Amino acid sequence: GIEDLSDLEKLAVLGRGNGGTVYKVRHTRTTSIFALKVLRFYHNTTNIRQHAAREAEIFKRVDSPYIVRCYAVFDSEDDLCFVMEHMERGSLHDVLFVNKILPEDVISGVALCVLHGLKYLHRMQIVHGDIKPSNLLINSKGDVKIADFGVSRVVVGKRDAYEAFMGTCAYMSPERFDPEGWDGYNADGFAGDVWSLGVVVLECLVGHYPLIGVGEKPDWATLVCAICFQERLEMPENASPDFRSFVSKCLVKDWSKRGTVDELIDHPFVNRTYLGSHQ
Ligand code: ADP
Ligand code: MG
Repeated sequence: GIEDLSDLEKLAVLGRGNGGTVYKVRHTRTTSIFALKVLRFYHNTTNIRQHAAREAEIFKRVDSPYIVRCYAVFDSEDDLCFVMEHMERGSLHDVLFVNKILPEDVISGVALCVLHGLKYLHRMQIVHGDIKPSNLLINSKGDVKIADFGVSRVVVGKRDAYEAFMGTCAYMSPERFDPEGWDGYNADGFAGDVWSLGVVVLECLVGHYPLIGVGEKPDWATLVCAICFQERLEMPENASPDFRSFVSKCLVKDWSKRGTVDELIDHPFVNRTYLGSHQ
């Protein structure tokens, strides 16, 4: 096991998110490589720390090949550190940045991994709440795993808060903008994760955030309008019938009529030849 943070040598920065920095690190004694996420507490209130500790507990307890593994958590005065498995190929956001679009067969494999991850989380009564390309990580075998358990939402980051918020709300489902649903079952519910998956899947084939046009100004009003009221879905011409059907089932505005994880896991789109190696 990893007994002390000082056993880890920082090699490179893998990514920066809302509240923290993720480093590639080497365990000096074993030379094993890990990813270390460091969350800094700028506002050190008991409340925020308790919330962060609870999230850390979830992350440690979650045990699935479809969820990024967390081996240790170190809690100190002004930061919280997670030692995770290193996902060599980075995030789906990085992959899309390089490749622009992905072939349907690859998207199908990604979607199936995310559905398995969501199935596991939902069975554990955990709503991820922040499914988006930068929170889906890929290792050298091509396995896709869900990361980032919303710990970022309870810490205050250095990055532009507006930018961070826009980034997150772009993948949020219509019901999360509905004040009536805020304290009901549907707000932050399981169906919201399915919506976000639909946006991600469509983005992989369209090559950009799919709910607003490339030229459109991605401000708050445009975004909320598109998510909550825009009826027609812009499907790429080359999309197969399976792809169209899958995305349409994820992106139903009424959460109670949306496809569920259990339904979608049997959908033909995600039951093509599967290239990953999760075992
Ligand atoms: P935040 O809560 O700040 O968004 P994330 O956990 O999403 O933090 O990590 C931010 C970025 O760091 C990811 O988008 C990814 O590029 C990189 N990253 C995070 N965890 C890992 C990991 N285990 N292996 C490789 N890269 C990672
Ligand atoms: Mg993230």
